[in-house]
Amino acid sequence: MPSNYVDLHCHLDLYEDFVSAVLEAERSQVFTLTVTTTPKAWPRNREVTESTRYVRAALGLHPQLVHERADEITLWDQYLSETRYVGEVGIDAGPRHYRSLDLQKEVFEHVLQRCESAGNKILTVHSVRSAKTVLDLIERNFSLAQGRVILHWFSGSKSEVQRASEMGCYFSVNAEMLRNERGQQLLSSIPDERLLTETDGPFTRLNERIAQPSDVRHTVELIADLRRVGAENTKLSIARNLKKLLETS
Ligand code: MN
Repeated sequence: MPSNYVDLHCHLDLYEDFVSAVLEAERSQVFTLTVTTTPKAWPRNREVTESTRYVRAALGLHPQLVHERADEITLWDQYLSETRYVGEVGIDAGPRHYRSLDLQKEVFEHVLQRCESAGNKILTVHSVRSAKTVLDLIERNFSLAQGRVILHWFSGSKSEVQRASEMGCYFSVNAEMLRNERGQQLLSSIPDERLLTETDGPFTRLNERIAQPSDVRHTVELIADLRRVGAENTKLSIARNLKKLLETS
C-alpha cells in the first residue's frame, strides 16, 4: 500500500485545523505518521485516523512534557494496545529540559519495556543531546529484531549514526536538518536502506509557511541532490524502506 512519499514524523493535531490537515495528507497520498505529545490527545487522534488510508496516528508522551505530565504514563499504558505506532517519545537533554532528565529516562525505559512485551511496535524517537543515552536505553530494553525504531531529527555524531544503524534503527530526515553542513554530513553517513523522510510539521517551514506532509517531495529532492542520485530513485528507495519497516516481524 505505501505511496511514493513518506512523512514519518509530523504533528497534525497541532495544526490550526487538524481534520483538514489529515484530509490534505490523504488527498496527497503521502504515507503520514502523525505523532502525539500527550496520551490525552490519543482518543481524538484515534477517531480522526480511524478510516484513513495513508495517515496513521502514534501514541506518545513527549520528553519535553515529561516534567509536568509523567503521571499520564498510566493513560499511555491503557491505550497502547490500540495502536502499532508509538511517538513522540525519547529523551531531551537540552538546557531547558535537563532538570527532568532522570524522570525522562524512567518514562522512556518504561515505554521501551512495554513496547517490547507488547511486540511488533514502531517507535519514532526524539534524542536531542542524548544520542548515547537513547541508544543505550534501546539496547537494554527493546529488541530491534522484532520491533522498529526510527530516530527522528537525529543530531548525534557520525559514529553514533553507525552504532544506531548496526543496531537496526531507521532515520527520518527533514529539510531543516539539511540546511546546514552538519546535517548534510550526517545524511552522508546514513545507509540508503535506513533512510526515511519527515517534516516534523508544524515545527518546520517551507517558503514562509508551515510545512505539511506533501512537502517531503522537497526533502527527497534535497537528499537526491546531496547524494548525487536521481530524485525518482531516492523516492523509490525511501518507499522500499517504508515497506520493509511496516512488514510484520
Ligand atoms: Mn516532533
